[in-house]
Amino acid sequence: EAYLSIQGVNKTFDSFTALRDINIDIQKNEFICLLGPSGCGKTTLLRIIAGLEKTTRGRVTVGGKDITALPPSKRNFGMVFQSYALFPNLTAHQNVAYGLQGRNLSKKEISDKVSEALSLVDLLHLKDRYPAQLSGGQQQRVALARACVLSPDFLLLDEPLSALDAKVRTKLREEICNLQKKLGITTIMVTHDQEEALTMADRIVVMNNAEIMQVGTPQQVYDQPESPFVADFIGSINFLTYGPPKGNIPRTSFAVRPEHIRISSPGSGFQAVVKHMEFRGPFYRLQLQPIRDLRDLLGNQLLSVDVSSQHAHKLNLMKFAEVSVE
Ligand code: ADP
Ligand code: MG
Repeated sequence: EAYLSIQGVNKTFDSFTALRDINIDIQKNEFICLLGPSGCGKTTLLRIIAGLEKTTRGRVTVGGKDITALPPSKRNFGMVFQSYALFPNLTAHQNVAYGLQGRNLSKKEISDKVSEALSLVDLLHLKDRYPAQLSGGQQQRVALARACVLSPDFLLLDEPLSALDAKVRTKLREEICNLQKKLGITTIMVTHDQEEALTMADRIVVMNNAEIMQVGTPQQVYDQPESPFVADFIGSINFLTYGPPKGNIPRTSFAVRPEHIRISSPGSGFQAVVKHMEFRGPFYRLQLQPIRDLRDLLGNQLLSVDVSSQHAHKLNLMKFAEVSVE
């Protein structure tokens, strides 16, 4: 039995379809990433779960209860946006406390809850700072504390890391995952960053053009993509065709990831010319032009192949390579 369930959700803005027949069952304590290119409908779906946007058709249930018609204030969730959305004239402590007002709590209870939430994100020592006196990463941690302070049933995160620089982003990835596990809170995070989704999610919902393309664990969507879109959007992949078309039977096509082709020892693989070599840090990405047997098979199609930087010495002055597919 799913905890949070999105059933047959459609959303149109005038004649434009932003979401088409969306179905997702989310388990309690699950960390779900909505992953897809800009404009595919991720934020719209998150806003529908929050109640900030009405569905055109379909429903949302939490714990078996239909919440489709409930206003946001009656849905018990915490939310974090890409822009930190903190009040600039309030300290970190006051920002987190803001949502607790009007809840019939004593000053002491509020102060204790805020301190607990700020400790969770390791920011208690900076509680009296104003947002302008905090780094981007710290502001986003305040936003997380604010989202968690009400002990919500679920957490909605809309590209919370996109505005941060690379180092801070990786650090906060871990922190968000730890926080999510510690609190055991059902979480839905929107991202357009495949690496973020692969590293953080229990399951990824891959979206494109208002539709769900595939739902699965990071390993499933990476290793068993069900469409060329998913194969190409997550990681890199060579799409290759071979053989002549026979009547109305098209050429055979297949796909292989650059890291699944290896440079083999002389005499044991197919030969190719190295057209281009790009340093990517842990590996080099080579563009290979097939020759001889491989060219008979693939024609002029180029092959992307990754070679670990450990083997970089083999690449020195390399003009030819032999490759085999694993
Ligand atoms: P994403 O978050 O995946 O980038 P969005 O959910 O923000 O995408 O938007 C999906 C599509 O719906 C976009 O083409 C966007 O322009 C459109 N859209 C979103 N909100 C509105 C709105 N209030 N009115 C009209 N179109 C909208
Ligand atoms: Mg968005």
